[in-house]
Amino acid sequence: MNLDDLEKLENNYDIELEMFELMKTLFPICRSITGNGVRQSFDIINEIINLETKEIPSNTKVFDWIVPKEWNINDAYISDLHGNKIIDFEKSNLHVVSYSIPIKKTISIDELKKHIHTIPEIPDSIPYHTTYYNEDWGFCMSHNDFLKMKDAEYSILIDSNLKNGSMTLGEYYIPGQIPDEFLISCYICHPSMCNDNLSGVVLTTILAKHLSMQKMRYSYRFLFIPETIGAITWISLNENNLSQIKHGLIATCLGDPGISTYKRTKNGNSEIDKTVEFMLENSDTEYKILDFFPTGSDERQFCSPAFNLNVGSLMRTPYGKFSQYHTSEDNLDFIKSEHLMDTFSKYLKTIFIIENNRKYVNLNPKCEPQLGKRGLYHVLGGKKNMQEIESAMFWLLSFSDGNHDLIDICRKSKIKFETILETAKKLESN
Ligand code: ZN
Repeated sequence: MNLDDLEKLENNYDIELEMFELMKTLFPICRSITGNGVRQSFDIINEIINLETKEIPSNTKVFDWIVPKEWNINDAYISDLHGNKIIDFEKSNLHVVSYSIPIKKTISIDELKKHIHTIPEIPDSIPYHTTYYNEDWGFCMSHNDFLKMKDAEYSILIDSNLKNGSMTLGEYYIPGQIPDEFLISCYICHPSMCNDNLSGVVLTTILAKHLSMQKMRYSYRFLFIPETIGAITWISLNENNLSQIKHGLIATCLGDPGISTYKRTKNGNSEIDKTVEFMLENSDTEYKILDFFPTGSDERQFCSPAFNLNVGSLMRTPYGKFSQYHTSEDNLDFIKSEHLMDTFSKYLKTIFIIENNRKYVNLNPKCEPQLGKRGLYHVLGGKKNMQEIESAMFWLLSFSDGNHDLIDICRKSKIKFETILETAKKLESN
């Protein structure tokens, strides 16, 4: 990937629209860690990139876990005894606790209350809850609607099924000039919520599409998997190839109005850490760097002791740190396409830098080479940034000792990466 490729894709309004359109299409689908919602989402993504999907049967053992039964849902509601629906799955798929077992009955309000989740502090929003590994059922609703329930009995339905089936994983691979891989992973298991996690799904899809049209040095692998169990399963299936993964990012929470946040890899000083931090230092935007912590998303699995891959997470406001998190307020109004595009450009810039970052070795290390006789010094009618390029040449010649990469030289010289890169190429060709 070169500078021209980067400039065509950065801050590109067509890409911004493309991501937002995809978000709108995927938003209504009821996804979970297994089931038809994931498959339906993959069918839509498949129109953009050719996903390779795998069905992993329920009860497959993956390290210390087993792949759960497959869950699907058709309908759900709470209604009064006259048939007036109080909440309706058709209106929001967050109304049903994900993985609820089927139930249909008339129930007393006292019994029903034990299965209702609300957020009294945000009384208009519906919370998001799951019960993946504990067979149970439940409803989620706004606290305000809950307070209106005064009848002694209600009629409830959850028309779901939980049975042996399979869990679907999606993957997309772009071969590069070298087999070393850059991994970008997102999770596809949340129902109608945008920042967590559709922003990750749409950015990953559209980034994969555009990178597939460029000539890349690294090979790129994009994962679309259910969080935790999907990552554990993918890692267990690919255990023997993990050493190919040199750099990685978990894509989540990418479209909210907050500043960019980078969560470091567990190693904390790998090339992806250095590159993202350097990109953010030069982004002219506010940002925050967090050391690795063992909760969060799938970096937990990729950075587990046996693998400890260099996988960090570049996000905006992290999960759990915005009030809309895991509620119906994390919707199409909360995230904005321009924030999503800003994050997309930051992913691209990171990739551009890591693709081009090198440690060069000065082949004329015995004092300075004579630049003038090679037409590299004080060229008449030179470009107006000639002074900067000449300065870059001296920095590069002095620090190209095999120990300093281009990022180090940029940091020392305060010269832009693009200028240092262009100048390094000029020196190399001379
Ligand atoms: Zn989540």
